[in-house]
Amino acid sequence: MIENTFGINIVPENDKERLEVLKRYKITNTPSEDSFDGIARLATQIFNVPISLLSLVDAESVFFKANIGMGTAKEANRGKSLCALAILDHEVTVFEDALKEPCLMSNPNVMGDFGLRFYAGAPLITHDGFLIGTLCIIDKKAREFSPSDRKILEGLAATAMEQIELRRSSLDTIDELQKANLLLTNTELDLKAAIEELAAINEEMEATNEELHTANENVSKSYDLTVTLNKNLQTSELRLKSFISKAPIAFGILTGENLTIEVANDMILKVWGKDKTVLGKPIEEALPELKGQPYIPILQNVFKTGITYIGDTAHVKLDLEGDIKDSYFDFIYEPLKNDEGNTIAIIVIANEVTDRIIKKQELEILNRQMEIALHAGQLGSYNLNLSTGKINSSEQCKANYGLEHDSKFDFDDLMKIIVPEYRDALKEKINQSIENGTALHAEYLVKWPDESLHWINAAGLPNYDENGNATHIIGVTVDITKRKNYETQKDDFLSIASHELKTPITSLKASIQLLNRLKDKPTHEMIPKLIDQSAKSLDKLSTLVDELLNLNRLSGGNLELTKEVFTVSEMLNACCDDIRIAGKHRLVLKGDLEATIFADLQRIDQVVVNFVNNAVKYAPLSEEIHLIIEKMEDRVKVSVKDFGEGIDHNIQPFLFDRYFRANHNGKKYSGLGLGLYISSEIIKRHGGEIGVQSAVGEGSSFWFTIPLN
Ligand code: ADP
Repeated sequence: MIENTFGINIVPENDKERLEVLKRYKITNTPSEDSFDGIARLATQIFNVPISLLSLVDAESVFFKANIGMGTAKEANRGKSLCALAILDHEVTVFEDALKEPCLMSNPNVMGDFGLRFYAGAPLITHDGFLIGTLCIIDKKAREFSPSDRKILEGLAATAMEQIELRRSSLDTIDELQKANLLLTNTELDLKAAIEELAAINEEMEATNEELHTANENVSKSYDLTVTLNKNLQTSELRLKSFISKAPIAFGILTGENLTIEVANDMILKVWGKDKTVLGKPIEEALPELKGQPYIPILQNVFKTGITYIGDTAHVKLDLEGDIKDSYFDFIYEPLKNDEGNTIAIIVIANEVTDRIIKKQELEILNRQMEIALHAGQLGSYNLNLSTGKINSSEQCKANYGLEHDSKFDFDDLMKIIVPEYRDALKEKINQSIENGTALHAEYLVKWPDESLHWINAAGLPNYDENGNATHIIGVTVDITKRKNYETQKDDFLSIASHELKTPITSLKASIQLLNRLKDKPTHEMIPKLIDQSAKSLDKLSTLVDELLNLNRLSGGNLELTKEVFTVSEMLNACCDDIRIAGKHRLVLKGDLEATIFADLQRIDQVVVNFVNNAVKYAPLSEEIHLIIEKMEDRVKVSVKDFGEGIDHNIQPFLFDRYFRANHNGKKYSGLGLGLYISSEIIKRHGGEIGVQSAVGEGSSFWFTIPLN
């Protein structure tokens, strides 16, 4: 609350707005100005008063913009200044004698030392009706103030107000000018900067211009080059096109999601078995035979993922003029991408390898066949590296040397296995084969790790490198021990056979020579003996010839059986008449005399004769020879038992082998070692069995069985 000496309200209702309006004039607390001082002075002169003020009533104080006669005072308290009352009324406020005014009774200006007695103040009214201050005159003595005085003071106040308005508008103008100035300054700065920039740009432009000029020169130069390059490009494009179309590799481009055939060279058309009409068609439509095969899904996937697909010897079924053919390809599906990295096409490059695959398959079949053949023939295969001595050998090859499949088997191992006297011969044969480029054929004896001896036949062919140096020998080996043994046996047999044949022939020859000498003496006592001798020799010869013939028939597989049902005892009774007549041995028939068999009578008789003859030959002291017939459930067994020296059980397994003849403690027996072999063959052909039961010192019982059905 402001101080109030008047005892009445001095704050008008609109004081708040009034103060806002006052602020707008920017006049309070500003230095004195000549124009306002001039008006106040004019007022003192007109009204002949000592004091005149141009005051502005602020919220708490009254500011004196012009002060004539009041010393240096700049302001007064609103509650004490009479101007505070003057702005409450639009009319001029006049106190002709202050001492008579009740509201001024407490006013210090009236009641104090100053001694104010007269006051007249005309309000300063703004153009919009607010009372912001006063132009007042003051005197220290009471005076009269006429209506014309009022009018003059009002006029002066209005002039002052006009001045205030003018001042304000000039202030605004100055403000605007200042703003404009600032703007101008800024603009100037901007302009400067812009000018500087422009200058820089200009410089740049000049430089660019120069560059352009140079470039221009270059352009004209490079134009020629471009033309040349373009020509070259066209040529190489043409070349590329012709290369692609004639390339020996299948090439095609499939575009878009539906994989339309855009490019297809001659080769791809050939392998597809199609012509140029497939161009522009989706691959699915152009090659309907691909349906159900994995290739279209693979292509679609390459298009989708943009990842290259490489196919290795892929199997493709293609329709070649109505013929679905199995083809094989190595191929690449390469995605072609645009700048955004999206696949727009697929390049298909394929190399047909059908021939290679077919050859490979044929080779595999051949290899398999060879493996089977090698296995069947018990042939071992080997590959000897001539520089390292390493041998790459099959399981069978190692088995031929008595080695396990995982045993080490190189050239030095081979040399150790070969019996020493055959080593150099083999090396020599290998050298000759390499030197002459001829096949290697060698036979040598090897000693297996179990000490057994085996014959090996090795064959091979040397291989050479491009410089003509032998690198490998590749070939096969086979164990020929059995054959070798047969050969030895055959050689032995031939010498025995010729010896055996020679004996009766020599004897026959001698008998005939003697008979020849006695032909004039038909009654000579020697003649019957010589005839008997000759007959015996002839018998022997015919037996030998029979055996040889039988052997020949057996080895040729020509032993034919003529079967009939006969009683075994009858057959046994009828055989071996010569032995019965000779009387040295008694043939005792035993067992089931009723038993019958269905067999070749001649051949079975031959077997029994052989058994009996052997008993006579090898058990000469056995007086009895038993012929035993046993009828069993499903077969009939016939045994010929002697009571001779018996046979060592160690040699019993070999008695029925071809050419086998046992050693009888230095005693010599004629024979070919064929009788029991031929007998066993005859029995086997009847589906029966043959064997011997014997012990040294207890005689031997040779037996055979013939099945009943
Ligand atoms: P060979 O012509 O030598 O008699 P075989 O095949 O008939 O030929 O007989 C083979 C061998 O069996 C004879 O060499 C003989 O050593 C032996 N052998 C055969 N029968 C008897 C027997 N009853 N007692 C002893 N050894 C026999």
